[in-house]
Amino acid sequence: MREPIILVRGVHKWFGSLHVLQGVDLEVYPGEVLVIIGPSGSGKSTLLRCINRLEPIQQGRIVVDRYDVNDPKTPITRLRSEIGMVFQQFNLYPHMSVLDNITLAPIRVRGMSPEQARERALSLLAKVGIPDKAAAYPSQLSGGQQQRVAIARGLAMNPKIMLFDEPTSALDPEMIKEVLDVMKALAREGMTMVVVTHEMGFAREAAHRVIFMDGGRIIESGTPEQIFTRPREARTRGFLEKIL
Ligand code: ADP
Ligand code: MG
Repeated sequence: MREPIILVRGVHKWFGSLHVLQGVDLEVYPGEVLVIIGPSGSGKSTLLRCINRLEPIQQGRIVVDRYDVNDPKTPITRLRSEIGMVFQQFNLYPHMSVLDNITLAPIRVRGMSPEQARERALSLLAKVGIPDKAAAYPSQLSGGQQQRVAIARGLAMNPKIMLFDEPTSALDPEMIKEVLDVMKALAREGMTMVVVTHEMGFAREAAHRVIFMDGGRIIESGTPEQIFTRPREARTRGFLEKIL
């Protein structure tokens, strides 16, 4: 039996009195591409943030690559270096060059030599299709280019898992494709990915599984084909009718 690389069991999370995750169970297997859809406020971002302990949980258990995420003894820096995260807002350091944005963590956290980190950063920039932007500053790049730098930065630590939280939602339409193409290439290479997105084309093409969240719960899970063409739950149907 394969072991999941991410295991979420009976997870509850509250922000004060707001019960935002209401018993979430989820497994993600190595090499799997999981897409999460659902209305605004349903807890998608919170779930991603709990997976790398940007947020604590109050009940349940999350295990990532055999680390119990909420065990105080878990080496959190080590755990986080196995998880790359890409946000809607690219969150690049504006005062640093593209190269420095990408090499900062590998040098500081992994103790990689600057030359080695530079070499890896340059090959990642080539991979995301902007080999000539190493010396540029984020403000000199388009949104699509900045997001591709953010993906390269996420990959720089050689993570086992990549989490994407609406990576194309802040982009102008003509830049969405270039970012999705990089993500599809990653998926084809076998990267384990959890992607919150409303890009149904991406989900149909790249996802192995789609889950629909509403009100802090996973309402339904299935193949893209099944979720998009014959959803079982009325709430899933209602959501899809609104966005498609
Ligand atoms: P989604 O990503 O599906 O839109 P979120 O996970 O961002 O949903 O939010 C789920 C709920 O938790 C929402 O009601 C949101 O307002 C609330 N929430 C998110 N982050 C915080 C926070 N840091 N403090 C308080 N409430 C929050
Ligand atoms: Mg969100």
